[in-house]
Amino acid sequence: MKALVWFRRDLRINDNKALHFAAEKAGELQAVYVVSREQWRMHNEAPAKIAFWKACLQSLELRLAELGISLHLLVADHYHDIPEAIASFAIQHKCSAVFFNREYEVNEIKRDELVTGKLKKAGINSLSFDDRVLLAPGSLLTGSGGFYTVFTPFKRSWLGLAARHDLKPLAAPAKRAAAISIGTSATEKWQCEASWRSDLWPAGEQAALDRLHKFARQVMGHYHLQRDLPNVNGTSLLSPYLAAGVLSPRQCLQEALAAGNVFPPAGTGQEVWLSELIWRDFYAHVLVGFPRVGRSQPFKLQTKALKWVDDQEQFEKWQAGETGFPVVDAAMRQLRQTGWMHNRLRMVTAMFLSKYLFIDWREGEKYFIQTLLDGDLAANNGGWQWSASTGTDAVPYFRIFNPFSQSLRFDPDGSFIRKFCPEISSLPTAALHDPKKLAAEVLARKLQYPPMMIDPRFARSRVMAAFKALGT
Ligand SMILES: Cc1cc2nc3c(=O)[nH]c(=O)nc-3n(C[C@H](O)[C@H](O)[C@H](O)COP(=O)(O)OP(=O)(O)OC[C@H]3O[C@@H](n4cnc5c(N)ncnc54)[C@H](O)[C@@H]3O)c2cc1C
Repeated sequence: MKALVWFRRDLRINDNKALHFAAEKAGELQAVYVVSREQWRMHNEAPAKIAFWKACLQSLELRLAELGISLHLLVADHYHDIPEAIASFAIQHKCSAVFFNREYEVNEIKRDELVTGKLKKAGINSLSFDDRVLLAPGSLLTGSGGFYTVFTPFKRSWLGLAARHDLKPLAAPAKRAAAISIGTSATEKWQCEASWRSDLWPAGEQAALDRLHKFARQVMGHYHLQRDLPNVNGTSLLSPYLAAGVLSPRQCLQEALAAGNVFPPAGTGQEVWLSELIWRDFYAHVLVGFPRVGRSQPFKLQTKALKWVDDQEQFEKWQAGETGFPVVDAAMRQLRQTGWMHNRLRMVTAMFLSKYLFIDWREGEKYFIQTLLDGDLAANNGGWQWSASTGTDAVPYFRIFNPFSQSLRFDPDGSFIRKFCPEISSLPTAALHDPKKLAAEVLARKLQYPPMMIDPRFARSRVMAAFKALGT
C-alpha cells in the first residue's frame, strides 16, 4: 500500500502518530504540506510565526529525505481549496490512504471533514489521530457527561486517566529507502519575507529536543520556585515548538515523569510543570466542548452585555508599551522585540487591557495572535478569557492585578523592567514599583517616559461596576 502523510502543525519525525502509523501500514510513503496564505491572513497568524513554520518545515524536509520520504509543497490559499489539492495529489501519486493528526479549531475541523469527504468519494481512506494533546478532547467528561469547565477537577480526572494510558513517545519511522538527495528543496518554493528571532528560537526538531533535555536537567526541578520571575530563565521556553508541533506533549511528559514512568509528587518542579501541560490540554478540550470560544464569543455568555471602551489611541499605547506602567511597558516591548512574553506578564498585560483600560479582550487576543511566535487559538483564548473574567474557570472579576504590586513581587530588583525600558533604567528600584516615586523621579530627571495613562482607582471602580451590573 502507498500512503500520504499530510503534515500540519506536527512538524517532526519523532513521536508523530500520523507518520508513525502510516509507516507501520504502508510500503511506500509520500508527504505533503499545504501553504494557505490567505487563510492564515484571515486567522491573523503572526508573520514571524509563519517564517518559523517555514524554517521548521525545511528542517523536517531534510530529516524525511534521510528516511527516504519526499516532501511536496502544495499551495491552496483558502481552506476550501484544500480538499481538491489533497485529493488530486493522492490520486496522482496512487495513494490509497491519507494520514494526518487532528486539529481542534472550528475552521480546521470543517476543513478536515471536507477533505475526508472528498477522499472518500475518490475511494481513498482517511486516518486521523489525536496527537496534539496528551488526552483527546471528549475522553474526559464530568459525571453528567459534559466537558469540564473548571481546571482542578479536570486535572484530577486527567491524572486518573493518564495513569491508565500509554503516553510514551512513539519512535520515528525506520529508514524506508535510500536517502533522497534534495536538489531544489520543496520548501524553497514557499515565498516568505518575514523573519523571527532565530537566535532565541532556532528552527527544527533537534533544537527543540536539545532545549527540552537541557530544561529537564537544569531547570525543571526549580520550576515551582522560579516560573513567575520574568528575568530568570525559569520556564522551558518551548511554547513555539509545541505550538508548531516541532515537539510533542508526550515528549515533554516523558521528561517530567520519574523513573518507571511514575507521576511526580505534588509540589515538585516536575509536577507543577506537568500541570501547565495539563492546562494546555484543558484549553484544547474547552475549545472542542464549547466551540463558541473559537468564534470570538465569551464562554460566560452574560459578559456579552459588557460595554467595552472603544479607544484606538489607548489601545496603541498598550501595544507599543507606552502606558506609563513600567512592568506593562516592559512586557509589551518584550513581545514586540522577541515574539514571546513570559506567562506572568501575559496575565498582567491582558488584565491591564481588559480591566484597567476596559478594552474588549478580543482586541488583545487578536494582537497577541498577530505577534506571538507560539500563538495558539486554544491557549491564547483561554488565557485572555481567564484574565478578562469571561472564560472557564476565570479569575473572579474583582481580582485585578495591580501592575506595581506585581512588579514588586515578581521583578523585585527591577532588572526585567530595566532591560526593556532603558529610558528609566537609571531610576532607583523603589521608583519602578511605586507610582508616586516614579512620577517624581521622571520629572526631576526630565526623563522621556509617559505618565500613567489611567488612574488605577478610577479603572478599578469602572470595571467593578460594569461586572456588578451583569449580576455575576
Ligand atoms: C493572555 C494569555 C495568552 C496566552 N497565549 C498563549 C498562546 O498563544 N500560546 C501558548 O502556547 N500559550 C499561551 N499562553 C500560556 C502561557 O503563557 C505560555 O504557554 C507560556 O508562557 C509559554 O512559555 P514556556 O514555554 O516557557 O512555558 P512553560 O511554563 O515551560 O510551560 C510548558 C508548556 O506548557 C504549556 N502552557 C504553559 N502554560 C500554559 C497555559 N496557561 N495555558 C496553556 N498552555 C500552557 C505551553 O505549551 C508551554 O510551552 C497564554 C497565557 C495568557 C495569560
